[in-house]
Amino acid sequence: MTGEDGRIRGILNDLKQRGLVRDRVALIIDDDMPSSKASLLKRSIRINPAYAALSDDGVRFILLHEEGHMVFFQRTLAILASLALLLIPVGIILSNVLPSVLASMVGFVISVVTIVVVFRSTSEIRHEDEFRSDLHAARILQEQFGVRRPSLVAKECFDHDVMDVEGVDLLLLMGRVLETHPDVVERVRRVKDELQTVCSSTH
Ligand SMILES: [Zn+2]
Repeated sequence: MTGEDGRIRGILNDLKQRGLVRDRVALIIDDDMPSSKASLLKRSIRINPAYAALSDDGVRFILLHEEGHMVFFQRTLAILASLALLLIPVGIILSNVLPSVLASMVGFVISVVTIVVVFRSTSEIRHEDEFRSDLHAARILQEQFGVRRPSLVAKECFDHDVMDVEGVDLLLLMGRVLETHPDVVERVRRVKDELQTVCSSTH
């Protein structure tokens, strides 16, 4: 384990001791991961070691954001399930109607188009998941760690998001085509707006 890995691990363990991340969540430090990702099975956070360059609050924000995804992941799962359901009838129809080679080619094209259409048309729901995970992390930073302006921490993390990793261009392109994440400026604005509302209503 390098010092960087140890630092991210140390911050995660501290969050676990405070009860802010579930104990069973494993941390996987992965050089090939362009950013950070929560497992759909709610068990692990995969993260690029370059995130160790962030401040302590920045690393906390990333880890808490991913924990937020694992706690609120139902919508994403529902979308993936509906996507799978859409592809099954398409596959059955094609395999009965067309010769097999042509069927698999047409099936492939239809699958790609279906994935893009379904992802783009449901982007708003998935973007809400991102906003919700951002707010989950930002609120904890504000309430438990006394961070006065968590939107600045969010900005620090998002500015750091594009890593110099092989294959990252393709992943970024896919992310853009599928609209997997909302715009960074919008994410920072939402954190700022929501938490300022909370502050002004409690003061
Ligand atoms: Zn996310």
